[in-house]
Amino acid sequence: MAEQIRGKGVISGIAVGKVMLAGQNLDGYLAAYKPGSVAEEQGKAEAALAAVTENLLATIDRLRKDEQTEQAAILEAHRMMVQDPMMAENIKTKIEACGSAPQGILDAANEQAQIFEQMEDEYFAARAIDLRDVGKRVAKYVLGVKEPEIGTGQVVLCGEEIEPSVVAGMPTDQIAGVILGSGSATSHVVIIAKARAIPTVLGIGDKISLIQDGDEIILDGSRGDIIIRPTEEERLLYQDKIEEQKKLAAHYAALKDLPAVTKDGVRIELTANIGTHMDVDNALTYGAEGVGLFRSEFVFMGSTTIPTEEEQFKAYRAAVEKCSGHICVIRTMDIGGDKPLPYLNIDPEENPFLGYRALRISLDRHDLFLPQIKAILRAGLYGKAAMMVPMVISVSEIQRVQKLVEQAKVELTHEGKEYSDDVQVGIMVETPAAAVVSPLLSQYVDFFSIGTNDLIQYTLAVDRGNAQIAHLYNPFNPAVLRLIQRTIQSARERGIWAGMCGEMASDPYAAVILLGMGITELSMSAPSIPRVKEMIRSVTSTQAKELLADVMKMEHGVDIRAYLHKMLESSDASAGL
Ligand code: PEP
Ligand code: MG
Repeated sequence: MAEQIRGKGVISGIAVGKVMLAGQNLDGYLAAYKPGSVAEEQGKAEAALAAVTENLLATIDRLRKDEQTEQAAILEAHRMMVQDPMMAENIKTKIEACGSAPQGILDAANEQAQIFEQMEDEYFAARAIDLRDVGKRVAKYVLGVKEPEIGTGQVVLCGEEIEPSVVAGMPTDQIAGVILGSGSATSHVVIIAKARAIPTVLGIGDKISLIQDGDEIILDGSRGDIIIRPTEEERLLYQDKIEEQKKLAAHYAALKDLPAVTKDGVRIELTANIGTHMDVDNALTYGAEGVGLFRSEFVFMGSTTIPTEEEQFKAYRAAVEKCSGHICVIRTMDIGGDKPLPYLNIDPEENPFLGYRALRISLDRHDLFLPQIKAILRAGLYGKAAMMVPMVISVSEIQRVQKLVEQAKVELTHEGKEYSDDVQVGIMVETPAAAVVSPLLSQYVDFFSIGTNDLIQYTLAVDRGNAQIAHLYNPFNPAVLRLIQRTIQSARERGIWAGMCGEMASDPYAAVILLGMGITELSMSAPSIPRVKEMIRSVTSTQAKELLADVMKMEHGVDIRAYLHKMLESSDASAGL
């Protein structure tokens, strides 16, 4: 009998397929395993580490050839974990203690994972999953356990937690969807699924036990609905939806090389948000015209020590080059808040989102900030780089940034290193303070990029990650809209450009309102680009201004979205919204 459950839809789309339970339990294999002498077990562990490394290298190579760069990057991180000398040392100690190679490997990986988990942070909890994943992979090799066989049909991967390597290691066309019992929107498995636009639902909790290996399943990644063992009627209903989805995807693909321009010729730049330079290739396949937000903190988080100027230069240069003349906005590190960096040894804080983070750290720690500025200025020689600073609240901060940019240039000249003098310097407007004083800030910068993810939470005093108050986190709240409008207006009056890199930019209805306000750039996760482009191409700027005027008279955020839906629903671009 069909069973219906609901989770949190995080990546939209309909998926149909047979369930493949991922995240295998190794208990039975471990119980049956007969260890040899400690020396023999040590040898087996070493051989397994070498074999898994080789296997990972081959998969990484295949993924790179298929231009699946994001997945390749994640497996590359796994390879580094497998080859980490600390890990090897830890495995030796554990085998000495327990006498079994697979158990020792799992114990070592779990111990390191626990350290990450204790950080009580979503990002690091996600990295703990990677470590356990790596441990399991190596242990499986010793135990002779095969990875799940992949057939020709499409599967829906389902697990309490799914190891990123399972998704990364499978060809995209074989994964119809992903279901997670737990999981967070920032876990690696979700990052991979998002880049590949795989419909995903998470947070179904213990209802996961209702799903069996091989069950036929339908999932709706927008609504979060999951139908287990659907009836013929349900299957047909969703089959129609899938056909519509396919047509829409083909339609979007045809938009790739068309400009985002309104019917009356107003042009908007649509750019991508990226975490590593390796994401640029994928972003370009969706028609991104460059990068509007390179979250450089991921360069810092992907390392166990502060990345040197040279290391950063390589990463920024690669991203700038791949943008081939389009803009590449590199945000200086936004550490703190939900993205701690253990090696900076920052004391725990009661309110990390209101604490020592982002620019506040950079302005204190010139040893971190100057090499980053220098690396960006040097990368500017290879294309159109821009530098953007996060969490600005005052004019004095941007003045201090400017002095440091000057100092970086002087030092580069002394060091005989070439750099670009044309790197634009802008700020994120993501605090209410910055939006309010935007007429003052506009005198000192080349551009504003509105970071609504934080701007909304700070304006409304609503934690962006708290599910209980998620209904209050509304981008169309009149207070938020007024701050955004003020920011764009300040930029226009000063003759600098204003863009948006918060998630709001990926909402096609919001795009129309922002267009009406005079925004000229929208940056988002790449798969959202075609939908937004379609909407922009379906309206005129006059219509956008009229809608904006109506919206600014309205008092309730929920009514605003409903009104925009009503007014724009006839547009082709609103399909599926
Ligand atoms: C934002 O705050 O809108 C933003 C883009 O930055 P992040 O999500 O990294 O905080
Ligand atoms: Mg932010």
